[in-house]
Amino acid sequence: MSFKIKRVSSFYSIFYIIKLNNKIIFIDSGTPSEKRRIEKLNIKPDYVFITHGHWDHIGCVSYLKKSGAKVFIHEKDYEFVKKGIIDLPPSKGSLYSNFVYFLLKFLKNFARFEKFDKDAIELHNLGLKIFETPGHTPGSCTFKIGNNYFIGDTLIGPNPFIKRPRISLFVRNKKELKKTLDFLFELDGRFYPGHGPSFTSELLKKSKDFIWRELKEKN
Ligand SMILES: [Zn+2]
Repeated sequence: MSFKIKRVSSFYSIFYIIKLNNKIIFIDSGTPSEKRRIEKLNIKPDYVFITHGHWDHIGCVSYLKKSGAKVFIHEKDYEFVKKGIIDLPPSKGSLYSNFVYFLLKFLKNFARFEKFDKDAIELHNLGLKIFETPGHTPGSCTFKIGNNYFIGDTLIGPNPFIKRPRISLFVRNKKELKKTLDFLFELDGRFYPGHGPSFTSELLKKSKDFIWRELKEKN
């Protein structure tokens, strides 16, 4: 199996362009404003795999579909997309998370995305595996290519101040996220989140106590 990973980072979120066995795969697609950047790259993907249905991950899906890409998104997150709803779980955590929540709630009124149809994709021979990893959203998924795991917003990458993977400000279901994290802690390889830099399974295992504490403090 041969693959190459390109990380595309914007102000809001990160998406990945992967050449896998001569197919071009997008993992997530950024906000709708990323369309111009994708146009410049002049890449026509064969597939788009969506980690979850949040606005900053599905923004360019309908654009990518126009050039013939097939799209995977979990049925449970597709429910939001079909209705054109931007899902925003409540945040009752820290002052900071409340601030971000109200800011996003306000911005939600202006954030638009084009609805799109999802496709049935034949995974056989593609070299990509899908795991259901709910918690951040009901239909969050993790995609595995080699020993690389694309985890969406299940965990956020380290930053210069907190040098560990962290839990997103938004957790739809704490119980489900706990199960998902138990699953991730057992894996070996590299993790690619939807926000922040990638990190190793060694760092994730070392961060276990920190992450459990963070989860406990969530509403
Ligand atoms: Zn998200």
